Amino acid sequence: EGKSNLHIQEGIQSTLTLLNHKLKQKQITTTVELADNLPVLCGWPGELNQVWTNLIDNAVDAMDNGGRLEITSQIDQRPNGQTFILTKVVDSGKGIPENVIDRIFDPFFTTKPIGSGTGLGLDIVQGIVHRHNGSIKVKSQPGHTEFSICLPVE
Ligand code: ADP
Ligand code: MG
Repeated sequence: EGKSNLHIQEGIQSTLTLLNHKLKQKQITTTVELADNLPVLCGWPGELNQVWTNLIDNAVDAMDNGGRLEITSQIDQRPNGQTFILTKVVDSGKGIPENVIDRIFDPFFTTKPIGSGTGLGLDIVQGIVHRHNGSIKVKSQPGHTEFSICLPVE
């Protein structure tokens, strides 16, 4: 119910428009590279916008002024015939320490000062991605954090 055909590009672009002010304030350079042949996805547009919002919010929090945010989407065609859209949200921020990276998707886990983070952002992101039968992965080192979201095309 409520699922519809959507263009992932539109959700990403409108999320960036909403967050434009915040990105400008911190002088973040944003690069968006979306393949122009991306297939239509079946999903909940509002939920997917929440995914991009939460990931970009975290990226902005992790970066000093003048950081770089990079968003890419491409087709991921598997040998078994399944098609996915692979989206990456990459930031040049401080990175996720090795001793906490296994916990970042846990509800209420936050490293942010009291009152500035609920620790629910990535729990929500993961829930939404899973409801879309997708998967999410993270890899991080200081100066480069990469969230990869893989969503199946029906
Ligand atoms: P919150 O943002 O409220 O802290 P989240 O669930 O969104 O909660 O994120 C959990 C934790 O994961 C953050 O507190 C932070 O430590 C870490 N984190 C998430 N994204 C990033 C990122 N892009 N760079 C560095 N740390 C991150
Ligand atoms: Mg967050």
